Amino acid sequence: MLADYHMHTPLCRHATGTAAEYVARAKELGLAEIGFSDHSPMPSYFDDWRMLAEELPQYFDWIAEARAAAGAMPVRMALEVDWLEGGESWIENLASRAPWDYLIGSVHYIGAWNFDNPAEKQRFSDFGAEEAWDRYWQLFASAARSGFFDIMGHPDLIKKFGHRPPGDLRRYYEPAIAAVADAGLAIEINTAGLFKDVQEMYPAPEFLTLARAAGVPLTINSDAHAPSEVARSFPAATELAKAAGYSELVRFTGRTRRTVPLTDGQSQT
Ligand code: ZN
Ligand code: FE
Ligand code: FE
Ligand code: ZN
Repeated sequence: MLADYHMHTPLCRHATGTAAEYVARAKELGLAEIGFSDHSPMPSYFDDWRMLAEELPQYFDWIAEARAAAGAMPVRMALEVDWLEGGESWIENLASRAPWDYLIGSVHYIGAWNFDNPAEKQRFSDFGAEEAWDRYWQLFASAARSGFFDIMGHPDLIKKFGHRPPGDLRRYYEPAIAAVADAGLAIEINTAGLFKDVQEMYPAPEFLTLARAAGVPLTINSDAHAPSEVARSFPAATELAKAAGYSELVRFTGRTRRTVPLTDGQSQT
């Protein structure tokens, strides 16, 4: 049975559903466990797609509600934390606020540019795919090396709208994977990319094959922003993982990682 470790809540202002509905869907699909990793707050108002720091107690209430509904199915408590240069002390602060099971590190900003926001897609033409990719992957590697995270989120998110530089993309993938491997982090297959312009899971098959060869552990996640999206396209993600050579996945409790076989990984979806 699979786990889904990347799920949001309405506290981030662009997700829907109740804790009980997410849990019910996970149980319907026979998931072994789930984890909420909503968009982390910032020290003060930052953008309109995350909880406020003063809403953290409501997030803890959401987790408690989900746990009450879940019975024997574990519900992990996590955050999807934005990597911003200069944001280190805030991440440290956040990490100390709760007994998190894991922290997902995600790059959604290149400087002040929220590149995965459809409202800011136009700026790809200012940067050009090459420059955007250069800067994205540098940030990705610095996030991985920061030591703050357990899982790197949607590794090649920069392809979301289909912008890709020409040529062999291993020049971007290899240093990023080296950073993840050196830091001892896991990555995720994030199935949400299938439903974006790029119509491909994150990361690309070639990235995943290189990550497997480098010994980088894997999770499979949906990035659900609605109960109907829980564990979306997990059978295809399982096939992608196997094709890349993976035979194991990892899970987290209290920021300690353990390994489970991927051959157990059939969900009923
Ligand atoms: Zn979101
Ligand atoms: Fe994200
Ligand atoms: Fe997310
Ligand atoms: Zn995400």
